[in-house]
Amino acid sequence: MDYILPHDSYLINLGSPKPDGLEKSRNSFRKEIERCEQLGIKMLNFHPGSHLKMISEDECLDTIGESLNIMLDKTSGVTLLIENTAGQGTNTGYKFEHLAHIIDRVEDKSRIGVCLDTCHTFGAGYELRTEEGFNQTFKSFEEIVGIEYLKGIHLNDSKKEFASRKDRHDSIGDGLIGLDAFRFIMNDARFDAMPIILETPNPDRWADEIKMLYGMIGA
Ligand SMILES: [Zn+2]
Repeated sequence: MDYILPHDSYLINLGSPKPDGLEKSRNSFRKEIERCEQLGIKMLNFHPGSHLKMISEDECLDTIGESLNIMLDKTSGVTLLIENTAGQGTNTGYKFEHLAHIIDRVEDKSRIGVCLDTCHTFGAGYELRTEEGFNQTFKSFEEIVGIEYLKGIHLNDSKKEFASRKDRHDSIGDGLIGLDAFRFIMNDARFDAMPIILETPNPDRWADEIKMLYGMIGA
């Protein structure tokens, strides 16, 4: 049960600049948290939110923080994981500073965390392909956000190039990230004891991808 990490609806925008959209998003997100509570699921992954070019990124991040405080106040037992984004369209959450900004606004920091998606991280312009780049990326994460907040990983290769700000998942090894990044993750103790979730596009490949990932341990 500790490693189950559902994803919220893609329609939810906790940073919406539109009052009706924000209210609907908060209501649906609250229902999703309540369903997790009922099922005994301890974590819920969500995309931070979009400013829709109507407010600044900072205002959007403040609104997300406020949404989370309301949600955390009205629910219990479920930790909310902010998923970093590639920064496509008007999405916030593509810089580690955005994640830190939201966490800073959250009052109950015991129930907030981060889920890093490898495709989004790469698309946002954080290097993962070389050992040096990978280490630099996680050093920045540690400095800006704090490794204690990292509570989940989404493993995806990327169809789009580095820093493209595009979110197109690919099967592991088929995309532009390459296999080394996945080998670094599989052999790094910082990612032990957390859900590592495959979100790759081809279900026929999943069994082989999982086998390949386990095969990277110690390699
Ligand atoms: Zn993801």
